[in-house]
Amino acid sequence: MLQPSKIIVDDLGDELAQIIPGKDPELSVTIKRIPVSQLDLSSRIIPVCEPTLGGREAEYLMDCVESNWISSAGKYIPQFEQRFAAEAGVKYGVACLNGTIAIHLALAALDLQPDDEVILPTFTMIATINAVTYVGAKPVLIDSEPNTWNMDVNQLADKITPRTKVIIPVHTYGHPVDMDPLMELANQHGILVFEDAAEAHGAEYKGRRAGGLGHAGMFSFYANKIITTGEGGIITTNDEKLAQLTENLRDHAFSDERHFWHQYVGFNYRMTNLQAAVGLAQVEQMPTFIENRRQNAALYSRLLSEIPGIITPPEAEHVKNVFWMYSILVNDEFGMTRDELRAFLAKHGIETRTFFIPMHLQPIYYKTFAGERYPVSEMLCKRGLYLPSASSLNEHHIRYIVDMVQQAHHEAMKE
Ligand SMILES: *Cc1c(COP(=O)(O)O)cnc(C)c1O
Repeated sequence: MLQPSKIIVDDLGDELAQIIPGKDPELSVTIKRIPVSQLDLSSRIIPVCEPTLGGREAEYLMDCVESNWISSAGKYIPQFEQRFAAEAGVKYGVACLNGTIAIHLALAALDLQPDDEVILPTFTMIATINAVTYVGAKPVLIDSEPNTWNMDVNQLADKITPRTKVIIPVHTYGHPVDMDPLMELANQHGILVFEDAAEAHGAEYKGRRAGGLGHAGMFSFYANKIITTGEGGIITTNDEKLAQLTENLRDHAFSDERHFWHQYVGFNYRMTNLQAAVGLAQVEQMPTFIENRRQNAALYSRLLSEIPGIITPPEAEHVKNVFWMYSILVNDEFGMTRDELRAFLAKHGIETRTFFIPMHLQPIYYKTFAGERYPVSEMLCKRGLYLPSASSLNEHHIRYIVDMVQQAHHEAMKE
């Protein structure tokens, strides 16, 4: 039977152990100052994220039920795929069960060998590196750069070897990676670039959409992502062969030649018509969701930039950040640690999340990268926090949350 990995926080040594966030604080409900009617909350806790189902979701779902098309055949799947591909500025979309599977499926189409290397940031969500593990390739990590928190493209050249087959840039928290120098380097070496755009629906780099900047993009439609299908994912690409192969692999690799005849080890990774129906309704609302998020982020940043020790999230030149999560860093001048601020906000009904724990510090990968250190990612892990970020939040929520951050700072300075 599977045994959990033995490396625990205590084994990391004092310096690293203090980077790892503590347990989630308990949320409690005490809303004051702002009248509850204005907060317009179904519960009085402000969740860090929640889906916004304000469009034609129910109508399209009823259509599936009434027409008896609920499985993975049905009109909403190609409609959703085409509509989403257009939003990413590419020709093809291949929908599947979730974002992790989108990454797995794209890599599975490549025939990677055990010593083939895949470069990815250490500062990401576990799914990116796990997908590399599923196909048996070797993950190679890159640190973040301090300005955008994304993979540091300047460190790439040193990590490329003759075995490097793929680079997976991750558009962290909705901010696109600096893709031009990355693509130039990748193209020079004949390396494929698969963007992990799970957090970056609609984000732009020099006027072009995330998911359409590399050879392929992978998105997630999990409930906390910018648009959702409950669970879901998609591969976006202009490469017709890759689109056809991944479409075939997601469906047991059934052959065109004869039925029940298989020339690849395929998977059942098909999305259902029900998920695609929700997805179509969601993608229709995507521009509104993104506009709301950008407005909320602008207000957050304007108000928070007055509080000492709070670093607001980046937006590089030529980039449109979609603020999947409105993320801040808590520096020493704030007077409280990140975890203390988190506990304070939780007491006031505000849910938050700490940043990713880097891959080189994960119990399951600690030995793989033993001795490697990535200082920027470690700093982000120690100081980073996301504040409530749902598309449905309004000005009252943002002002209330910032007031509470301000109050936490005042209390810390009194001590
Ligand atoms: C959410 C996410 C994924 C995984 O998507 P799922 O749909 O949850 O499988 C992969 N990569 C990143 C960066 C993510 O944020």
